[in-house]
Formats: sequence, C-alpha cells, structure tokens
Amino acid sequence: MYNVGRLSILKREVRVMAGCDQCKKGNAKIHLKMDEGVPNLVLCSDCYNEVMAEELGVSYEELLIKSFEMEDSLGEVHQFDVDQRVFPNGTFLEARERKEHGYFFAIYDEIGVSAAELLQKLMEKVKSGLSQKYIEENDLGGVSQPVLAGDEVWGRIEYDEKGNGVPLVVVDGKPYKWSEFGKLISANEGFQFVLKIHEFTD
Ligand SMILES: [Zn+2]
Repeated sequence: MYNVGRLSILKREVRVMAGCDQCKKGNAKIHLKMDEGVPNLVLCSDCYNEVMAEELGVSYEELLIKSFEMEDSLGEVHQFDVDQRVFPNGTFLEARERKEHGYFFAIYDEIGVSAAELLQKLMEKVKSGLSQKYIEENDLGGVSQPVLAGDEVWGRIEYDEKGNGVPLVVVDGKPYKWSEFGKLISANEGFQFVLKIHEFTD
C-alpha cells in the first residue's frame, strides 16, 4: 500500500515539473493530438488556448487573474486556481480549490464572450456555491455528527484510491466516503430520493 501511495505522489510531482513543449515554462497538462506524422504536443493552458484559438480563427483573451480567495458562509477562506480552455464551440472556465477533494466550479459559454464576463460568471457561481451548506454538524451529546442541512444535496462523485471501486462523494468542498454518506442520509429512512447526474457546468 505504501508503495502505491509513494508512486502516485511521484507521478504527481513529475506532472507538476513537466514543462510545456511550446513556452518551456508553464505547467504542461494538456496532451494535444496532432496530425499523423507530427509529434503530439504537451502544453500548458495558455499555450493550448493560443494554439486552439489560432486553429479556430477566434480571439482569445488571457484571464487577468489566475487565482483568488473567497469566504464561505461560515467565514472559512478558500483559495481557488482558475483555468480556462478554448474549445470549438465555446470557452470552459473552472475554479478549483487548492486542496485535494475541495470545491470545484465550472462554467461554459459561447466563443466571443469576454474574459472579464466569463470570470464574473464564474465568481458568481463560486460565491453562490460557498454561501450554501448541504451538510451541517449536529452536536449529539458532545459528539459532532454530520447530517443533511435540508432535503437536497449537490455534490461531486470522485475516485477513491482506497475505495475498491466505490467512489467518494464531495459535498461542500469536503470528501465523504460512500459509507459515511450513507450514514448521513440514514435519518431520512423511509423517504424517497432522486439521483440525477449533472454536467460540471450545470
Ligand atoms: Zn506553454
């Protein structure tokens, strides 16, 4: 188990250190498949967007900020990294919290929308997301127990390295094991529920 953990950390470090094929500086994380006979490129986000925008003949504005901080409804400060991707039909913008299994927000808009407008839309989504808590801590005789704050939960399904194929559920920027999540909703025994899968950008 220790070896598996170490290996995955090493892999992550190598990924962070890998330089971009074009600018040699940025953190290369996007593999671009080229035409036959041309070697594939591994690019940072900025170079990928430049290449893509040129290919598509659209204008591309770099974001003025690449990270920001925002407070949630309990006063806790969360740090986010912003990333942008130009696609044939639009632009994808994401804010990923700077910690494992943290908050993640994303939007998608048509080509031609300014970087400032995209950023504003994303910030509004982050603000609205951070202002709401779906799980709260209930004090049961001095022992804190997570319970549903209402009758609805928005979350994210993530891979759990130790889950043997069972995923993690990330709610309010915190990871819950599938069994923990099950325990959490057990107070609603006897009720019906709906499980509906949504896009990142919904
Ligand atoms: Zn680059």
